[in-house]
Amino acid sequence: MGEDVQTDEQRGAWLMLAVGDDRPRRSNDGYDDAPAAHYSWDSSVLNHQLPQAGDVIVLWNKKVLLGASVIEKIVVGEEDKAFHRCPYCGRATIELRKTAKPPYRCTKCTGTFEVAEVVTIRKDVTTYRSHHEVAWVDLTGELTSDRLRGLCTRPKSQLSIRQLDYARFQEAVRAAPGRPSLSPVEAALATTLRGGHTTAVVRVRRGQGAFRSHLLKEYGDKCAFTGPTPHAALEAAHLNSFAADGRHHDQGGLLLRRDVHRLFDLGHLAVDPQDHTIDVSEAIGCYPEYRQLQGEKLHVELTTRQEGWIAKHWAMHRS
Ligand SMILES: [Zn+2]
Repeated sequence: MGEDVQTDEQRGAWLMLAVGDDRPRRSNDGYDDAPAAHYSWDSSVLNHQLPQAGDVIVLWNKKVLLGASVIEKIVVGEEDKAFHRCPYCGRATIELRKTAKPPYRCTKCTGTFEVAEVVTIRKDVTTYRSHHEVAWVDLTGELTSDRLRGLCTRPKSQLSIRQLDYARFQEAVRAAPGRPSLSPVEAALATTLRGGHTTAVVRVRRGQGAFRSHLLKEYGDKCAFTGPTPHAALEAAHLNSFAADGRHHDQGGLLLRRDVHRLFDLGHLAVDPQDHTIDVSEAIGCYPEYRQLQGEKLHVELTTRQEGWIAKHWAMHRS
């Protein structure tokens, strides 16, 4: 701990590992990272919260330097992520063997095991993705890994995100065999200095995806208020207040059709806690589509926990 702490007098410059065993893997993500455009990491790695828009990002692959740029923005999200652990020692150092059986081996305790024995832990993580395409300079092979490690503020760091001494990095690149130019990076830095810090952090509710999948598995393609509904029109509605503790809870939601979800959140639709029938507000009762829901039973059985939340929602909007 206490490693690679960013100090105020230094511009943030980060050496990030683009590939290799220590690479923080994205498990549920649809896209692979293109080093020249994006880099993704999450809150399971140390220093995750330090890189900022306007900072220098330098990527390497554990063997050589790949390139450098300036971070335009960082998109922040949430994800329910699976972590795989060794069943013997609990470490994450698991390798897949190409031919040997059983297929998995722990590189630390050397235990071998089957797929079914891998311990999987699910955790909510904060995800980060940098966008840095504009100023990217390809520097493939210009510096070795040893040289790069020496340019970090802590040369012995093992982290996948390490603080880099940017002034020394500049010097080293200028002296590299290909005499590469860092001018796109310099230009971008000059712009951010002149124009002030354009911190662009975009927050997206990615956790919604995992929570929705959980509910789809539980209930199928069915809106709790209106019945069978195409998959694409269903949303996960939180019965408890998501904002209150920032977490998704099992049994804390219902699948609702998109419009129904919105109207439920606003209290135009509610569920009578006595008999679990739908109550439609006067404001929307003039629309036949919603009027016909009045007094109808829900299409799902409520758990005790959901009943409690429905009652709270009712108390808030109907008493
Ligand atoms: Zn092990």
